[in-house]
Amino acid sequence: MYTIAKVIVDVPSRDTDRPFDYRIPPDMAGWIEIGSRVGVPFGRRTLQGFVVGLEKQSDMDPARIKPIQELLDHLPPLSPDLVELAGWMSRKYACTTIAALQVMIPSALKGKAERYVSVPDLQPGYAEAAAGAGVPASGTGNAENLFRSVGGSMEGEQGALFALTAALPPEARSILAFVRNAGLVPLSQLGKRYPEEGETVKALLSQGLLTETQQIKDQMRRKTVKTVAAAVSGEAAEAALASFTAQARRQKEVLEFLLEVGIPISQQELLSTLGVTAGTVKKLAEKGYAVIEDVEVYRDPYADRRFKATVPLELTDEQSDVFDKINGALQARVHDTFLLHGVTGSGKTEVYLQTIERCIAQDRQAIVLVPEISLTPQMVERFKGRFGNKVAILHSRLSGGERYDEWRKIREGKVQVAIGARSAVFAPFERLGLIVMDEEHETSYKQEETPKYHARDVAVRRARQHGAVVILGSATPSLESYHAARSQSDDEFAPMLLEMRNRPSGSSLPKVHIVDMREELKEGNRSMFSRPLHQAIADRLERKEQSVLFLNRRGFSTFVMCRSCGYVANCPDCDISLTYHEKSNNLRCHYCGHAEPAPSICPECGSEHIRYFGTGTQRVEGELAKLFPGIRVIRMDVDTTTEKGSHERLLQAFREQKGDVLLGTQMVAKGLDFPNVTLVGAIAADSALNLPDFRAAEKTFQLLTQVAGRAGRHQLPGEVFIQSYMPEHYSIIHASRHDYLSFVREELQHRRGLGYPPYCRLILITLSHEHMPVLVRMAENFAAELRGNAVKKGVFGSLDRLSAEALDILGPIASPMPRLKKRYRFQCMVKYRGDIDAVELVRRTAAGMLDGLKDSLLQISIDVDPQMLM
Ligand code: ADP
Ligand code: ZN
Ligand code: ZN
Repeated sequence: MYTIAKVIVDVPSRDTDRPFDYRIPPDMAGWIEIGSRVGVPFGRRTLQGFVVGLEKQSDMDPARIKPIQELLDHLPPLSPDLVELAGWMSRKYACTTIAALQVMIPSALKGKAERYVSVPDLQPGYAEAAAGAGVPASGTGNAENLFRSVGGSMEGEQGALFALTAALPPEARSILAFVRNAGLVPLSQLGKRYPEEGETVKALLSQGLLTETQQIKDQMRRKTVKTVAAAVSGEAAEAALASFTAQARRQKEVLEFLLEVGIPISQQELLSTLGVTAGTVKKLAEKGYAVIEDVEVYRDPYADRRFKATVPLELTDEQSDVFDKINGALQARVHDTFLLHGVTGSGKTEVYLQTIERCIAQDRQAIVLVPEISLTPQMVERFKGRFGNKVAILHSRLSGGERYDEWRKIREGKVQVAIGARSAVFAPFERLGLIVMDEEHETSYKQEETPKYHARDVAVRRARQHGAVVILGSATPSLESYHAARSQSDDEFAPMLLEMRNRPSGSSLPKVHIVDMREELKEGNRSMFSRPLHQAIADRLERKEQSVLFLNRRGFSTFVMCRSCGYVANCPDCDISLTYHEKSNNLRCHYCGHAEPAPSICPECGSEHIRYFGTGTQRVEGELAKLFPGIRVIRMDVDTTTEKGSHERLLQAFREQKGDVLLGTQMVAKGLDFPNVTLVGAIAADSALNLPDFRAAEKTFQLLTQVAGRAGRHQLPGEVFIQSYMPEHYSIIHASRHDYLSFVREELQHRRGLGYPPYCRLILITLSHEHMPVLVRMAENFAAELRGNAVKKGVFGSLDRLSAEALDILGPIASPMPRLKKRYRFQCMVKYRGDIDAVELVRRTAAGMLDGLKDSLLQISIDVDPQMLM
């Protein structure tokens, strides 16, 4: 029998990032498991924690081991494999284990200790006083019982208390009486009831007349409904029915009904069916003929939605080939990862659906990851349509309670499929057979807050634990995944490449036109619509077909570009664009720190039309209204989609053809499938190209490919216009030809030349502090220390030379966002290649530095494989 639990407590600090030993009280022994959530005493507080290990004995002095105070759930929220995964995450991403554990559970279970007060069981003097008053002491000598035995009336109790605490002021006596009656009272509630008496409560606590305890309280309550059932049957029921008087006719009806139904039914339903009142039911229960019970139910956010049932389609040859390979691995029950590269509309989703069906048939479970679930309502519909209530949806816009209930269906094995954004990768299935990651290249799979994990890595790791299959699907796979599939060098992550080049519908990919916006300007068109796009929109309006207009949200006003020749200021050393800094009026490189004054005329062509670039959806909407009077525009961006369900509503309106144009940011690029859309326009297709990010070209290619894929998916042929100031850029040219392979070839060449992923790995370290001079010194110390440690380990060396192992440290330089929340920020970048444990090197260096400082104001954040460099 285990007597010791190793518990990770909920303190997000480095010092407490290890398991602490607690004694398992005998009454919990059968219930505590690895993954259990518990409340434990920690210092003077009570904290939530997770059991990560069980032992028969502890190395600690037994007298110093405290017992677990409470067990918070009967079914542990985490399974042992998730606990193990959290350990792996803490090593891989240099985060605390508690941060990794916390990200795995719904926020509803992020319990915080709440302070309660009660009247202590036995207060010296109470018993004597009570005895003196002629009341016999009860057997247990327990003060509670004692008070109860004083006759139970308020008066008698008040009297006893009065005798004991006669010296106290009246407010204090009133508080004591209130608490004793209530039993256990949250301190916050007491504060509300006696707002003026804070001092009195404190005094009572310090005198020991009140005691304080702490308990973990969840962020929400489980939802229950009242149910009613007959409590009698057979002869007893006959007798009961015979006993009703004429006035109790309604009660009799209720009992007859309950006997007929035979199972508990919701009280609300009962009342409305029979037209009786709750009072009638209550009387029936009081007579012992019926029981009223609160039963826990799941809140179902999709309860009032109907989904059109769909049946499996007959797969095309291409789909069959892919399906057979994946299904082979699934049936073998061995871990394998597939990279499914299929053009938009090639039927990837149908392959997912049919693979999941096989997975369910094996009595295993499947997780489906989508970039942002509120942006993919059509995906939800297809899965609900195929699998109905076997599906749980972990939607970010659900209320905390709804999300918790969906999660609970997974934990309790009530569903076989979970769909959600990146954190759904932690869906607590115990017989996981399949993880599908749709649009695997999307950056939203990387969490930008601690723990800074990538759902793709976690998916592969989890699948390995379970002998499960992973499908990474995309029309534009990330270069990392594609390169890994091609080179098969990394044994941790070497997906098998599967390809689908055709659309089952037989429709071809849309024709794409690139419009040179420099030419437009030359010809005197200063509008944001080129003449060809303008004409195309007009045609669609006339033909009553629909258009999607796309505007890249990223890259506003950050880079400097010449409107005449398309020149963009780049860093001479890094081949990425410089960022404009308004305050100092200069341009800076966020990788190496290079700075130069902002030009007022174009250094390339001398034009004065050089400026920082940016435009917004609202402006586009305004211009559309001016150019096309009466045009119906549905605008979808962060401003119009803040409300819950607004996204679905806008799309529904567009589907019902209540709009001629769907105008939006990234939101309109993804996963939408509207038969009547025959035109897609990318207004400033290249605006993201100029971000100071080595992935700028890749992101641009992905977005353009994706948005172009929205046109002409069905009978009507589609047409796409890409407006650009750099129409000769390879990402734009290859996107216009739907040519992923050529793009990859060219992009990989660049990456290799510049030493960026996938030819090396990155760790971004951001140091922040409130005082700039202190920060500069510390950042320099940190970089020096890190270099020193790397040299000691013998791994320091330039990546230029194509050695298999190398590690280079860039910086420190000011972060692209140099001040956030009153803190200045500096960063270092580690680039490395080969089998080096660079994360551990960085983590140790950071920990060593923080340990050596009394100054706790310094923060060091570590981002492994960063996606956002801004
Ligand atoms: P993707 O996920 O690759 O973008 P989808 O799965 O959405 O592609 O498929 C695109 C369209 O083709 C959908 O309307 C889908 O119903 C249809 N489709 C997929 N597979 C088949 C098939 N085997 N036979 C007929 N239609 C199919
Ligand atoms: Zn120019
Ligand atoms: Zn640079």
